[in-house]
Amino acid sequence: MPQNSPATDSNFTPLVGTVIAVQANFCQVQIDPDVPMVGGKLILCTRRARLQKIGISAIVGDRVTIAQIDWQGLKGVVIDVFPRHSLLDRPPVANADRILLVFALAEPALDPFLLSKFLVKAESTGLQVSLCLNKSDLVTAVERQDWCDRLSEWGYPPIVISVEQGVGIQELQRELDRQITVFAGHSGVGKSSLTNALIPDSNIRVATVSGKLSRGRHTTRHVQLFTMPTGGLIADTPGFNQPDIACTPTELPGYFPEIRQRLAVGNCQFSNCTHRDEPNCVVRGEWERYAHYLDFLADAIAWEQQLQSQPKLENSLKQKSSTGKKQYEPKLDSKYRQISRHTILQSLAELADEFEDE
Ligand code: GDP
Ligand code: ZN
Repeated sequence: MPQNSPATDSNFTPLVGTVIAVQANFCQVQIDPDVPMVGGKLILCTRRARLQKIGISAIVGDRVTIAQIDWQGLKGVVIDVFPRHSLLDRPPVANADRILLVFALAEPALDPFLLSKFLVKAESTGLQVSLCLNKSDLVTAVERQDWCDRLSEWGYPPIVISVEQGVGIQELQRELDRQITVFAGHSGVGKSSLTNALIPDSNIRVATVSGKLSRGRHTTRHVQLFTMPTGGLIADTPGFNQPDIACTPTELPGYFPEIRQRLAVGNCQFSNCTHRDEPNCVVRGEWERYAHYLDFLADAIAWEQQLQSQPKLENSLKQKSSTGKKQYEPKLDSKYRQISRHTILQSLAELADEFEDE
C-alpha cells in the first residue's frame, strides 16, 4: 500500500456516483441509487489534486469514483472521472442526453420562426432534441391538434402539457427517466413552473444537503442537476435565450430533420449543394421550413465569413465533443452567469467551511 494512502478502513471502499453541483475544489456527488447504505445520498467531495495534475476536472453530470472519508458526515474525495459521452460548454454539463425545448402554445403566442431558430440551435449541440409545448389549457383541442400535426411534419412530435392543470407531467417524467436533460426555452413559457412540478419539494430537500443548496424562484440560475422522483436528472438552467445561427453553411442542413430525411433517401447532383438554387437538388421543395432554412443559410454564410476574418473567434465558439462532432454551445445570458457564480459560491463555500472545520 502506498505510504500516504488514506485507505485505513472500510470507509474507503470506492463508490460511483454523479456530480450534481461544483464549485472551486468542491463538488457534490450523488451516489448511485443501487449502492447499499449510501445509495442516492449526497457526498460533499474535494476534487483530488491528482485529477488536476492529469488535466481532468469533474463538472456537473460527470460520472465519478469517490473514496468516502467520513461516513457520518458524508464527505469524500473524487478519485477518478469516467469518460464522457457528451459535453456542453455553456452551460457546462457532461453526459447530457437530451435538450428539452419548452415552448408555450399561447401567452406568449407560439412563433414558428423563433421556435425553428431554437430547434436549430439545440440540434447544433449534437444531443437528442425534444419539444415540449406548455399551456395547453389556453388553446382549443383543434388548435392543439393542428400544432401537433404541423410540428410532427417538422420532425418534432411535441409532448403537450399544462403545468397549471397538471396535464402530461407524469408522462414527461417517464419520458425523461434515466437521462440527463437540459431545459431550454425563452422566459415566460413556464420552464420554472415545469421544473417545480417535476421536482417535488421533498425531493429538493434530499438533493440539498441539509438545506444549504437551497433552491427557489431566484436561486435556480446556476448549473445544478436535480433528481426527479423517477430518477432522471434535470439541468435547470436558463439555456439559450437569444439563439443566433452560429454554424457553417455545410453544417446547417444536418440540423433539420426534414433535410436529413430527404438526403437519406436521395442525393443532390452536387455533393456540396447548398440546396438553394443548384439544379437537381433533392432538398429544395414545398416543405414548410424550407423558407427558414434559406433564411438561416444566409446567417450561416455571414457567420462563416466573419469567422474567416477573425480566426480567434472560432476557438471561443467551438469545441469538439467526445465523439469528435463539432458543437456550437448555447450561451448563457451574462446576467445569469453572474447570479450563477454568486449562488453556487455561497452555497458550496458554506459546505466547504464545514468540511474544513472538522
Ligand atoms: P419561465 O420564465 O419559462 O420560467 O416561466 P414561469 O414558470 O415563470 O411561468 C410564466 C407564467 O406562465 C407564469 O405566470 C405561470 O403561472 C404561467 N404558466 C406556467 N405554466 C402554465 C400553464 O400550464 N398554463 C397557464 N395558463 N399558465 C401557465
Ligand atoms: Zn441540394
